[in-house]
Amino acid sequence: MARVLIMGCGGVAGVAIQKCCQNSEVFEEICIASRTKAKCDALKEKLEGKTSTKITTAQVDADKVEELVSLIREVKPDLVMNIALPYQDLTIMDACLECGVNYMDTANYEPEDITEPEWREIYEKRCKEEGFSAYFDYSWQWAYQEKFKKAGLTALLGSGFDPGVTQAYCAYAQKHLFDEIECIDILDCNGGDHGYPFATNFNPEINLREVSAPGSYWEDGHWVEVPAMSIKREYDFDQVGHKDMYLLHHEEIESLAKNIPGVKRIRFFMTFGQSYLTHMKCLENVGMLSTEPVEFEGHSIVPIQFLKELLPDPASLGPRTVGKTNIGCIFSGKKDGKEKKAYIYNVCDHQECYKELGSQAISYTTGVPAMVGAMMLVTGKWDKPGVYTVEEFDPDPYMDALNKWGLPWQIEDNPEMVD
Ligand code: NDP
Repeated sequence: MARVLIMGCGGVAGVAIQKCCQNSEVFEEICIASRTKAKCDALKEKLEGKTSTKITTAQVDADKVEELVSLIREVKPDLVMNIALPYQDLTIMDACLECGVNYMDTANYEPEDITEPEWREIYEKRCKEEGFSAYFDYSWQWAYQEKFKKAGLTALLGSGFDPGVTQAYCAYAQKHLFDEIECIDILDCNGGDHGYPFATNFNPEINLREVSAPGSYWEDGHWVEVPAMSIKREYDFDQVGHKDMYLLHHEEIESLAKNIPGVKRIRFFMTFGQSYLTHMKCLENVGMLSTEPVEFEGHSIVPIQFLKELLPDPASLGPRTVGKTNIGCIFSGKKDGKEKKAYIYNVCDHQECYKELGSQAISYTTGVPAMVGAMMLVTGKWDKPGVYTVEEFDPDPYMDALNKWGLPWQIEDNPEMVD
């Protein structure tokens, strides 16, 4: 029986919160805290009477450590689930350390202001040394390793679908299917159609930053970076069909390269339709994806934040999105001295998610593993002090829980490979 403090009440948090309330045997009490308290109150109202989980709400600015500390001291949770934005990862980790509470999130740290000189200096050094130029990376959170260990606390990083479930698939393949994994291709296919010419299916600012960045992959012990969307492949996805997909940089490649011994290549592909790509290119060309503030009629405006205001709220896509997602990992390697290939994946239906929780499948496929990761920590199934990603824990209880809580997975032997 646990009490958790959930930061954020957007698309993903909305699903994680509802899943905690379905699982009230484990989540006895939750406090939903976010910048806009009205959203937390509205969700509490929707859920009350339908769950035995006790729900409270609070307003908090998660950029401010002192506000977080006083809230954590008041709520006294067993775990803080950070489902706000990656910008808040470090302040929430600091507050958890100060209060002696376990931490988890769904995305690794990136700064809101990429012009900040101190951050920029470290970033530019990292780009040169590591060879990839994404704004997000694990170094900032891995730097907390000793502090969490010393405090006897656990920080679980990136328990969404990708990152998150994809790493559990890798740990499962390593434990049960292979003696040696040589190549991993992570395939993220969204075959859903929301009927808008352009919309993002999770936070637009974070999403557009990610997909407009150069692509990169891990090969033979180093990063290879390529221009954005320059590597394209086609794949025939189970229950979705043929889709174009493009190589992206993605955060779990960084931790898997460290944690899957002997792995030679790790790539990540995401499907995009032509309309999405054309809109994105146009918005980028006119400067609308810029994260640097511009002066407009006496106001300082960040173009990508203004764009977010114009685009449909991802949480509102639920009723209109039809089709399925198919996300998984294709492995090649050796078992008992023989070449082996396997594909572990989940298929999720947008309308089924909407019927169950009022959400589209992207929020659903992220929110369920957020609840499952929290469940691993509060039930003590995953218990080791320090800062870890999903593949560093035993995958079995997590994989069982995914089957039980809405994201069943399957294994295909000898799948079609990506060249
Ligand atoms: P939303 O924008 O829908 O929700 C973000 C929430 O955080 C909102 O409730 C927002 O409040 C709140 N918030 C933002 N800033 C603050 C702050 N300073 N203090 C307190 N609360 C704040 O985002 P999503 O739900 O789409 O995404 C949530 C997280 O999930 C992100 O980190 C995203 O990167 C991650 N993600 C991970 C995936 C994975 O597979 N691992 C896939 C998709 C997303 P307000 O309502 O006031 O704006």
